Amino acid sequence: MEKKEQLYEGKAKKVFKTDDPEKLIVSYKDDATAFNGLKKGTIAGKGVINNRMSNRLMKLLEREGVPTHLVEELSERETLVKRVSIVPLEVIVRNISAGSFAKRYGVEEGIVFKSPTIEYSYKNDALGDPLLNRYHALALGLATEAELDTIERYSFKVNEVLSAFWRDCGVTLVDFKLEFGRLSDGTVVLADEISPDTCRLWDSVTKEKLDKDRFRRDLGGVEDAYKEIMGRLEKKLGK
Ligand code: UDP
Repeated sequence: MEKKEQLYEGKAKKVFKTDDPEKLIVSYKDDATAFNGLKKGTIAGKGVINNRMSNRLMKLLEREGVPTHLVEELSERETLVKRVSIVPLEVIVRNISAGSFAKRYGVEEGIVFKSPTIEYSYKNDALGDPLLNRYHALALGLATEAELDTIERYSFKVNEVLSAFWRDCGVTLVDFKLEFGRLSDGTVVLADEISPDTCRLWDSVTKEKLDKDRFRRDLGGVEDAYKEIMGRLEKKLGK
């Protein structure tokens, strides 16, 4: 597979064309941003960890019936993926209150919900990714009703599979963000990444944060947290 010109550079990844119009190469960077790009930095080795972790988790999800964009890992930082057109929604699933939920509703972090929640933001940097509901998404023509049904079904399935996986690693899956895309035939698949950049992961016993909140909130030990969480995954799944 030949790597061709760069198609796009995002905050944490670059995307390249290949000689196959249906496939792209994603290259993970160490760059980190938070608060809609206001805070910028680098986390040494993050790109390698996120690439490998996202691929391992997506393989797991594929086996459990959630289709993804993953084709194959090419190197430490690069992965071949199916070309999709991204549904411009950030899908957030929560098991425990944290982050913007805690802030918006004026509650402490760490409240364990009876059942998980789902919410959407409109992927639009200029607007600061505003929260919207299913009806807003339909009104704006961001997705069809059938697509939203599929996205919700897959999102809760991802939550079940990954909550159980991380529990076995001594880690609590607090919340996470997913993005979905459409293949050229319209099939909806899970895209983007699943990593400590996009999930809140707490040590089950100590509640220590093992994710990007260490960067967002200047808690220190950012690189070590990424290494620790990858180590836990590898202990469970092998290297
Ligand atoms: N998240 C993300 N990208 C975003 C916003 C949120 O990956 O642009 C993830 C975040 O890491 C967390 C979950 O989605 O695991 C919920 O984030 P929240 O809405 O609490 O927003 P935040 O507090 O990160 O602003």
